[in-house]
Amino acid sequence: MVDRQIRRRGISDDTVLRAMALVPRHLFVPDTQASAAYADCALPIGLGATISQPYVVAMMTEALRLEPGLRVLEVGTGSGYQAAVLAACGTSVFSVERVEELHRRAARTLGETGFGDVRLRLGDGSRGWPEEAPFDRILVTAAAPAVPAALIEQLDDEGILVAPVGDDRLQIVRRLWKKGAGIEQEELEGVRFVPLIEDTEPAT
Ligand code: SAH
Repeated sequence: MVDRQIRRRGISDDTVLRAMALVPRHLFVPDTQASAAYADCALPIGLGATISQPYVVAMMTEALRLEPGLRVLEVGTGSGYQAAVLAACGTSVFSVERVEELHRRAARTLGETGFGDVRLRLGDGSRGWPEEAPFDRILVTAAAPAVPAALIEQLDDEGILVAPVGDDRLQIVRRLWKKGAGIEQEELEGVRFVPLIEDTEPAT
C-alpha cells in the first residue's frame, strides 16, 4: 500500500510513510471489509461514515507538516485510523466524533492497537475542543461549505489547519496557515468526504 499507492503518487515525508506502514489498517475496518483494507479506495465503516482512501490520509497528513510533540485536533474520528496515523507521527492527538457508536468503537480499536494515548471526545467537532485549545494543527475529516470559525479560533499562532471544503459533490482540501493576525490559504486537491454535521442546539 505504502509503495504502490502513496510513495508512487508523490508523498515523500518519511514520518508519514513510516506511520502508514506501522498502523494496521485492517483492524480499523469492519470484519466484512478486512480483505479490502489495503485497497486503493475509501471503505464504508457503517453509520454513514467512511475510512478514507490511504492516499488521501497520507496527503492530508503530509499537508499538516507534523513534528513530534505537536498537539493535533482531528474532527471526525470515524474508525480511528487517521488518529492512529497522526499518533504514529509522534504527535499528541485529540479527536472528536459526533456518533456515539463510532466513538466507542474507535476507542476500543485504538486501545487494542496500542494507540490508547489518543484522547477522544463525543460531540460536535465543528466547535473544536475549547478546553484543550489551542492546537498546533487541526485536521477536519468531514466536508463543510466553509471551515467552522471555532476551529480557526482554536488554532495556535503559526498553526496549520487542513480541511475538505465544498458541497456534497465537489470538495477541495484547503490548507490554512495562521500567521500573526492574518491567515494564508492554499487549495490542494479534490476529494470526497462525508458531510460535517453541525449540531444546531447551543453549546453548553
Ligand atoms: N477520520 C476518519 C474518517 C472520517 S469519516 C477515519 O480515519 O476513519 C467522517 C466522520 O466525521 C464520520 O465518522 C462522521 O460521523 C464524523 N462527523 C461528521 N460531522 C461531525 C461533527 N460535527 N463532529 C464530529 N464528527 C463529525
